[in-house]
Amino acid sequence: MSDVIVIGAGLAGLASAVRLAKLGHRVTICEQDERLGGVLGRIEADGFQWDAGAASTTLPAALRDLFRKSGRPIETLVQLEPVLEARRHMFADGSVLDLPLNDRGTQHEAWTDLAGAQVAQQWTDLVDGYSDTWQLLRTTSIEPPLERKLSFSAVRALKPWQSLEKVAQSQLSDERARAVLRHFAAQGGSDPTLTPGYVGVWSYLERTFGRWTIPGGFGAIADALVQRASERKITVRTSAEVVAVTTNGGAVTGVRLADGEELLADIVVSDVDPRVLYGQLVDDPAAKKVRKRVLATHQAQAAYVVHLGLQEPLPELPFETVLHGSPTVVVRTGGQAPAGHQAWSVLVHGYPTDDVLDLLVARGLHIRDKVVSRQVSPSWWAGVAWEGYRTARRRASNVSPVKGLYCVGAGAHPGSGVPATTLGAAIVADVIGKA
Ligand SMILES: Cc1cc2nc3c(=O)[nH]c(=O)nc-3n(C[C@H](O)[C@H](O)[C@H](O)COP(=O)(O)OP(=O)(O)OC[C@H]3O[C@@H](n4cnc5c(N)ncnc54)[C@H](O)[C@@H]3O)c2cc1C
Repeated sequence: MSDVIVIGAGLAGLASAVRLAKLGHRVTICEQDERLGGVLGRIEADGFQWDAGAASTTLPAALRDLFRKSGRPIETLVQLEPVLEARRHMFADGSVLDLPLNDRGTQHEAWTDLAGAQVAQQWTDLVDGYSDTWQLLRTTSIEPPLERKLSFSAVRALKPWQSLEKVAQSQLSDERARAVLRHFAAQGGSDPTLTPGYVGVWSYLERTFGRWTIPGGFGAIADALVQRASERKITVRTSAEVVAVTTNGGAVTGVRLADGEELLADIVVSDVDPRVLYGQLVDDPAAKKVRKRVLATHQAQAAYVVHLGLQEPLPELPFETVLHGSPTVVVRTGGQAPAGHQAWSVLVHGYPTDDVLDLLVARGLHIRDKVVSRQVSPSWWAGVAWEGYRTARRRASNVSPVKGLYCVGAGAHPGSGVPATTLGAAIVADVIGKA
């Protein structure tokens, strides 16, 4: 049995902690805030409730695996439900696409109705092609840690040097179809010209596995993990900021808290921004190379988020609407609201030069006089921005050269979002193994 300290109780930290506890390790979580969950949680005001972070996920198997491998199945704690409504895309020319999420045939029909048979076929062929990309990514860098060199044939198939923008330009003749593909970069806070084309694999994952949500909000996942942590007898320390990872001769020995207390550990799992971990918390010569590499990355542009409580009648919107343009604005309607009201979250991807309500009005959503509550989300850490394909190697790998140190979370391999951060925790638990 090893003594494990997990720094940070975001989704990735909690997921690592409960998996490692189930494998028989003695786990302590140190979280600097008073509450657990990181960006996953709820915002409540004036009788409304909004998801503070994720509101839905694709690849539900990643969450199911997390709960099964840390105790009982997810269904014993929360119900994952498929999002049945199509995602709406509203384009600058006024046209609208309701793109079904998990069905190849109905996606094809939606594109045919909007842009004709040729564009529909281009979209379907492109998404079909990402099936091979997914198999390749899954077997080379999602299930195992991204450490070993990819084979020549894998690199040739992934074409990492080809940007998402290039793929959009070369494979899609309709500007609206290009905009939908580019959104897979924009939603992660990256520029499509600097994002590898294979990131479009999310179009395939959504079409294959759909999107899933939780009635009452995604914050329930954080609650369920906190409950699981308590069942697994994990020691949870809140208001416990870690200011140093202590090491000796290239191996971790524990952590130091802001109040000076030192905690000993054989293993430290960090859910902290790796640029902070290697730039400020770890001072061991073994980290010299990785520090240089990680500090060369930059933060992805986090969406600016405003939560609105609105009085009906309102324009009828599905669970998610993407208002393409500059900046791209996403409206999510799944919050909890009193009778006769709705709770919307508005995510602005890009530079919000105008007030959010002005942006919505300019795109045809005249809701200014409907607003009864308005909450601005705190700024948040969105992971690492794509700056060309080399970013995949510069981003912190899950296994550190400092012995006993592991990285998970939005800034580490395989990236941000619910599926990726959950998979990163699974990689780390598999590498550490049973007590
Ligand atoms: C508005 C919004 C909408 C989103 N929508 C979606 C979505 O629909 N689908 C999807 O898949 N993803 C979505 N995401 C992204 C997803 O929620 C995140 O990628 C994921 O929850 C990140 O989890 P994490 O554990 O990596 O990081 P975090 O949640 O940031 O957790 C890090 C934790 O570490 C703690 N910490 C940091 N430094 C220290 C320290 N020195 N000592 C102790 N503790 C420390 C922090 O306080 C925090 O609790 C969204 C995010 C936001 C904000």
